[in-house]
Amino acid sequence: MKRVIRVFPRRTKATPDDDGARIGVGPGLFDEADEVHLSVAFTWDLPLAEKLAAEWKFVAPVQMGGPALMTKGEDFTPGRFVRKGYTITSRGCPNKCWFCSVWKREGGTVRELPIQDGYDILDDNLLACSEAHVRAVFAMLARQPERPKFTGGLEAKILKAWHCEELRKLKPQRLYFAYDTPDDLEPLREAGKMLREAGFTTASHVLSAYVLCGWPKDTMEGAEKRMRETLDAGFTPMAMLYRDRNGQREPSWMRWARQWARPAIVHSKSNAEAHGRAVARTVQPLVGSLDGDA
Ligand code: SF4
Repeated sequence: MKRVIRVFPRRTKATPDDDGARIGVGPGLFDEADEVHLSVAFTWDLPLAEKLAAEWKFVAPVQMGGPALMTKGEDFTPGRFVRKGYTITSRGCPNKCWFCSVWKREGGTVRELPIQDGYDILDDNLLACSEAHVRAVFAMLARQPERPKFTGGLEAKILKAWHCEELRKLKPQRLYFAYDTPDDLEPLREAGKMLREAGFTTASHVLSAYVLCGWPKDTMEGAEKRMRETLDAGFTPMAMLYRDRNGQREPSWMRWARQWARPAIVHSKSNAEAHGRAVARTVQPLVGSLDGDA
Protein backbone atom coordinates (compact mmCIF):
# COMPACT_ATOMS: atom_id res chain seq x y z
CA MET A 1 0.00 0.00 0.00
CA LYS A 2 1.31 3.42 -1.00
CA ARG A 3 2.18 5.85 1.77
CA VAL A 4 0.54 9.16 0.90
CA ILE A 5 0.91 12.45 2.73
CA ARG A 6 -1.82 15.00 2.01
CA VAL A 7 -0.81 18.65 2.19
CA PHE A 8 -3.22 21.63 2.47
CA PRO A 9 -2.08 25.26 2.23
CA ARG A 10 -4.63 26.49 4.78
CA ARG A 11 -6.83 25.17 7.58
CA THR A 12 -10.59 25.58 7.21
CA LYS A 13 -13.42 23.95 9.15
CA ALA A 14 -13.39 21.15 6.58
CA THR A 15 -9.63 20.43 6.49
CA PRO A 16 -8.75 16.90 7.65
CA ASP A 17 -6.64 16.70 10.82
CA ASP A 18 -5.57 13.04 10.83
CA ASP A 19 -1.96 11.79 10.98
CA GLY A 20 -1.54 11.83 7.20
CA ALA A 21 -2.49 15.51 6.79
CA ARG A 22 -0.10 18.49 6.91
CA ILE A 23 -1.41 22.04 6.89
CA GLY A 24 0.61 24.98 5.58
CA VAL A 25 3.98 23.43 6.42
CA GLY A 26 6.90 21.83 4.63
CA PRO A 27 8.14 18.33 5.49
CA GLY A 28 9.22 17.42 9.01
CA LEU A 29 12.36 15.45 9.82
CA PHE A 30 10.55 12.09 9.91
CA ASP A 31 8.11 12.56 7.03
CA GLU A 32 8.35 9.73 4.52
CA ALA A 33 5.94 8.98 1.70
CA ASP A 34 5.61 7.40 -1.74
CA GLU A 35 3.44 10.28 -2.95
CA VAL A 36 2.50 13.73 -1.74
CA HIS A 37 -0.96 15.02 -2.69
CA LEU A 38 -1.28 18.78 -2.43
CA SER A 39 -4.91 19.94 -2.37
CA VAL A 40 -5.64 23.60 -3.17
CA ALA A 41 -9.17 24.86 -2.62
CA PHE A 42 -8.68 28.60 -3.21
CA THR A 43 -6.92 30.39 -6.09
CA TRP A 44 -5.36 32.87 -3.66
CA ASP A 45 -3.46 29.99 -2.04
CA LEU A 46 -1.72 29.04 -5.29
CA PRO A 47 1.56 30.92 -4.57
CA LEU A 48 1.84 29.21 -1.16
CA ALA A 49 0.94 25.86 -2.75
CA GLU A 50 3.78 26.27 -5.29
CA LYS A 51 6.19 26.97 -2.44
CA LEU A 52 4.98 23.91 -0.52
CA ALA A 53 5.28 21.73 -3.64
CA ALA A 54 8.92 22.84 -4.03
CA GLU A 55 9.63 21.75 -0.43
CA TRP A 56 7.71 18.46 -0.49
CA LYS A 57 9.23 17.22 -3.79
CA PHE A 58 12.30 16.18 -1.79
CA VAL A 59 10.15 13.66 0.11
CA ALA A 60 8.20 12.16 -2.81
CA PRO A 61 6.66 13.12 -6.17
CA VAL A 62 4.03 15.81 -5.62
CA GLN A 63 0.59 15.73 -7.28
CA MET A 64 -1.27 19.04 -7.10
CA GLY A 65 -5.03 19.25 -7.51
CA GLY A 66 -8.22 20.74 -6.16
CA PRO A 67 -10.78 23.37 -7.17
CA ALA A 68 -8.18 26.18 -7.46
CA LEU A 69 -6.43 24.24 -10.24
CA MET A 70 -9.79 23.49 -11.91
CA THR A 71 -9.20 19.77 -11.42
CA LYS A 72 -12.40 17.86 -12.16
CA GLY A 73 -13.56 16.09 -8.99
CA GLU A 74 -13.28 12.32 -8.68
CA ASP A 75 -15.42 9.89 -6.71
CA PHE A 76 -15.49 10.99 -3.10
CA THR A 77 -13.48 9.29 -0.33
CA PRO A 78 -14.57 10.33 3.19
CA GLY A 79 -11.81 11.97 5.21
CA ARG A 80 -9.30 12.24 2.34
CA PHE A 81 -9.52 15.88 1.25
CA VAL A 82 -12.26 17.01 3.64
CA ARG A 83 -12.67 16.06 7.29
CA LYS A 84 -14.87 13.07 8.21
CA GLY A 85 -18.51 14.09 8.59
CA TYR A 86 -18.52 16.02 5.31
CA THR A 87 -19.63 14.16 2.22
CA ILE A 88 -20.01 14.80 -1.50
CA THR A 89 -22.55 12.63 -3.33
CA SER A 90 -22.59 14.47 -6.66
CA ARG A 91 -20.47 16.96 -8.53
CA GLY A 92 -21.34 19.69 -10.99
CA CYS A 93 -24.31 21.92 -11.70
CA PRO A 94 -26.41 22.63 -14.80
CA ASN A 95 -26.44 26.40 -14.09
CA LYS A 96 -23.83 28.91 -15.22
CA CYS A 97 -23.65 31.64 -12.58
CA TRP A 98 -21.13 34.33 -13.58
CA PHE A 99 -19.23 34.29 -10.28
CA CYS A 100 -18.95 30.49 -9.96
CA SER A 101 -16.30 28.12 -11.27
CA VAL A 102 -18.22 24.86 -10.71
CA TRP A 103 -19.68 24.63 -14.21
CA LYS A 104 -16.34 25.52 -15.83
CA ARG A 105 -14.52 22.90 -13.76
CA GLU A 106 -17.07 20.10 -13.80
CA GLY A 107 -18.45 20.55 -17.32
CA GLY A 108 -21.99 21.90 -16.86
CA THR A 109 -23.72 18.63 -15.96
CA VAL A 110 -24.36 16.84 -12.67
CA ARG A 111 -22.55 13.56 -11.98
CA GLU A 112 -24.05 11.35 -9.30
CA LEU A 113 -21.36 9.56 -7.27
CA PRO A 114 -21.51 6.50 -5.04
CA ILE A 115 -23.05 7.76 -1.78
CA GLN A 116 -20.63 7.80 1.14
CA ASP A 117 -21.71 8.40 4.72
CA GLY A 118 -21.51 11.88 6.19
CA TYR A 119 -23.89 14.42 7.66
CA ASP A 120 -22.70 17.66 6.06
CA ILE A 121 -23.51 17.70 2.35
CA LEU A 122 -21.09 19.66 0.17
CA ASP A 123 -22.61 18.81 -3.23
CA ASP A 124 -22.58 21.67 -5.72
CA ASN A 125 -26.29 21.25 -6.43
CA LEU A 126 -27.82 18.20 -4.77
CA LEU A 127 -31.39 19.01 -5.83
CA ALA A 128 -30.36 18.93 -9.52
CA CYS A 129 -29.75 15.16 -9.12
CA SER A 130 -32.33 12.51 -9.98
CA GLU A 131 -35.15 11.88 -7.52
CA ALA A 132 -33.75 8.38 -6.86
CA HIS A 133 -30.35 9.82 -5.93
CA VAL A 134 -31.77 12.57 -3.70
CA ARG A 135 -33.98 10.04 -1.89
CA ALA A 136 -30.98 7.72 -1.39
CA VAL A 137 -28.96 10.64 0.05
CA PHE A 138 -31.82 11.49 2.44
CA ALA A 139 -31.98 7.82 3.50
CA MET A 140 -28.20 7.88 4.20
CA LEU A 141 -28.61 11.08 6.23
CA ALA A 142 -31.41 9.53 8.30
CA ARG A 143 -28.91 6.85 9.50
CA GLN A 144 -26.25 9.34 10.68
CA PRO A 145 -25.57 10.05 14.36
CA GLU A 146 -25.61 13.83 13.73
CA ARG A 147 -28.43 15.95 12.36
CA PRO A 148 -27.64 16.93 8.76
CA LYS A 149 -26.41 20.21 7.36
CA PHE A 150 -26.53 21.23 3.71
CA THR A 151 -23.49 23.46 3.56
CA GLY A 152 -23.10 23.02 -0.23
CA GLY A 153 -26.41 24.80 -0.70
CA LEU A 154 -29.86 23.93 -2.03
CA GLU A 155 -31.29 25.63 -5.12
CA ALA A 156 -34.62 27.32 -4.31
CA LYS A 157 -35.81 27.32 -7.96
CA ILE A 158 -35.95 23.52 -8.09
CA LEU A 159 -37.15 22.84 -4.54
CA LYS A 160 -40.26 20.65 -4.54
CA ALA A 161 -42.90 19.92 -1.91
CA TRP A 162 -41.59 16.37 -1.40
CA HIS A 163 -38.06 17.69 -0.75
CA CYS A 164 -39.49 19.92 1.99
CA GLU A 165 -41.41 17.05 3.60
CA GLU A 166 -38.38 14.74 3.57
CA LEU A 167 -36.06 17.51 4.80
CA ARG A 168 -38.41 18.19 7.69
CA LYS A 169 -38.30 14.51 8.71
CA LEU A 170 -34.48 14.72 8.83
CA LYS A 171 -34.61 17.54 11.44
CA PRO A 172 -31.60 19.29 9.86
CA GLN A 173 -29.29 21.60 11.78
CA ARG A 174 -29.14 24.03 8.88
CA LEU A 175 -30.40 24.38 5.30
CA TYR A 176 -28.54 26.88 3.13
CA PHE A 177 -30.09 28.53 0.09
CA ALA A 178 -28.72 31.48 -1.93
CA TYR A 179 -29.69 34.94 -3.07
CA ASP A 180 -26.97 35.76 -5.59
CA THR A 181 -28.77 37.46 -8.46
CA PRO A 182 -32.14 39.30 -8.69
CA ASP A 183 -33.90 36.29 -10.24
CA ASP A 184 -33.20 34.31 -7.03
CA LEU A 185 -35.62 36.40 -4.96
CA GLU A 186 -39.01 35.05 -6.08
CA PRO A 187 -37.89 31.38 -5.85
CA LEU A 188 -36.45 32.12 -2.40
CA ARG A 189 -39.79 33.57 -1.25
CA GLU A 190 -41.60 30.55 -2.70
CA ALA A 191 -39.13 28.15 -1.01
CA GLY A 192 -39.69 29.95 2.30
CA LYS A 193 -43.45 29.40 1.96
CA MET A 194 -43.07 25.72 1.02
CA LEU A 195 -40.66 25.04 3.89
CA ARG A 196 -42.95 26.75 6.41
CA GLU A 197 -45.88 24.71 5.09
CA ALA A 198 -43.78 21.59 5.72
CA GLY A 199 -43.27 22.66 9.35
CA PHE A 200 -40.02 24.67 9.41
CA THR A 201 -40.14 27.88 11.42
CA THR A 202 -38.21 31.11 11.00
CA ALA A 203 -37.55 31.27 14.75
CA SER A 204 -35.53 28.03 14.70
CA HIS A 205 -32.87 29.70 12.45
CA VAL A 206 -32.54 26.44 10.50
CA LEU A 207 -33.36 28.22 7.25
CA SER A 208 -30.42 30.29 6.02
CA ALA A 209 -29.42 31.90 2.76
CA TYR A 210 -26.05 33.09 1.53
CA VAL A 211 -26.40 36.55 0.03
CA LEU A 212 -23.68 37.49 -2.46
CA CYS A 213 -22.45 41.02 -1.74
CA GLY A 214 -19.63 43.40 -2.60
CA TRP A 215 -18.92 42.59 -6.25
CA PRO A 216 -17.39 45.50 -8.21
CA LYS A 217 -20.65 47.40 -8.97
CA ASP A 218 -22.61 46.38 -5.88
CA THR A 219 -23.70 49.06 -3.39
CA MET A 220 -24.21 48.75 0.36
CA GLU A 221 -27.79 50.06 0.01
CA GLY A 222 -28.51 47.34 -2.54
CA ALA A 223 -26.88 44.67 -0.37
CA GLU A 224 -28.76 45.85 2.73
CA LYS A 225 -32.03 45.59 0.78
CA ARG A 226 -31.22 42.03 -0.32
CA MET A 227 -30.38 41.04 3.27
CA ARG A 228 -33.77 42.37 4.45
CA GLU A 229 -35.62 40.69 1.57
CA THR A 230 -33.96 37.43 2.62
CA LEU A 231 -35.14 37.89 6.20
CA ASP A 232 -38.66 38.69 4.97
CA ALA A 233 -38.60 35.51 2.88
CA GLY A 234 -38.05 33.59 6.14
CA PHE A 235 -34.28 32.95 5.98
CA THR A 236 -31.36 34.07 8.12
CA PRO A 237 -29.21 36.02 5.64
CA MET A 238 -25.47 35.36 5.61
CA ALA A 239 -23.40 37.87 3.69
CA MET A 240 -21.07 36.12 1.27
CA LEU A 241 -18.47 38.66 0.24
CA TYR A 242 -17.24 38.58 -3.32
CA ARG A 243 -13.49 37.93 -3.63
CA ASP A 244 -11.36 38.57 -6.64
CA ARG A 245 -8.92 35.93 -7.95
CA ASN A 246 -6.37 36.99 -5.33
CA GLY A 247 -8.88 36.49 -2.56
CA GLN A 248 -9.10 40.21 -1.81
CA ARG A 249 -12.21 41.71 -0.25
CA GLU A 250 -12.85 45.42 0.17
CA PRO A 251 -12.20 46.46 3.82
CA SER A 252 -15.33 48.67 3.78
CA TRP A 253 -17.41 45.66 2.75
CA MET A 254 -15.81 43.54 5.46
CA ARG A 255 -16.85 46.13 8.06
CA TRP A 256 -20.36 46.20 6.62
CA ALA A 257 -20.63 42.39 6.62
CA ARG A 258 -19.67 42.15 10.30
CA GLN A 259 -23.03 43.55 11.37
CA TRP A 260 -24.74 40.70 9.53
CA ALA A 261 -22.30 38.00 10.66
CA ARG A 262 -24.16 36.27 13.49
CA PRO A 263 -27.73 34.92 13.29
CA ALA A 264 -28.47 36.13 16.84
CA ILE A 265 -27.48 39.73 15.92
CA VAL A 266 -29.39 39.60 12.64
CA HIS A 267 -32.57 38.39 14.31
CA SER A 268 -32.35 40.73 17.29
CA LYS A 269 -31.84 43.61 14.81
CA SER A 270 -34.84 42.48 12.80
CA ASN A 271 -36.99 42.03 15.96
CA ALA A 272 -35.98 45.48 17.21
CA GLU A 273 -36.95 46.96 13.85
CA ALA A 274 -40.26 45.09 13.82
CA HIS A 275 -40.91 46.37 17.34
CA GLY A 276 -40.02 49.89 16.17
CA ARG A 277 -42.48 49.58 13.28
CA ALA A 278 -45.22 48.32 15.64
CA VAL A 279 -44.63 51.24 18.03
CA ALA A 280 -44.72 53.65 15.08
CA ARG A 281 -48.05 52.17 13.96
CA THR A 282 -49.50 52.63 17.49
CA VAL A 283 -48.20 56.15 17.91
CA GLN A 284 -49.18 57.41 14.45
CA PRO A 285 -53.01 57.37 14.92
CA LEU A 286 -52.56 59.03 18.31
CA VAL A 287 -50.50 61.81 16.69
CA GLY A 288 -53.16 62.06 13.98
CA SER A 289 -55.94 62.39 16.54
CA LEU A 290 -54.02 64.99 18.55
CA ASP A 291 -53.45 66.92 15.32
CA GLY A 292 -57.18 66.71 14.63
CA ASP A 293 -57.98 68.01 18.10
CA ALA A 294 -55.70 70.98 17.69
S1 SF4 B 1 -26.23 27.30 -8.87
FE1 SF4 B 1 -24.52 27.30 -7.39
S2 SF4 B 1 -23.13 25.66 -8.08
FE2 SF4 B 1 -24.51 26.12 -9.77
S3 SF4 B 1 -23.40 27.56 -11.04
FE3 SF4 B 1 -24.70 28.77 -9.65
S4 SF4 B 1 -23.43 29.18 -7.85
FE4 SF4 B 1 -22.40 27.55 -9.02
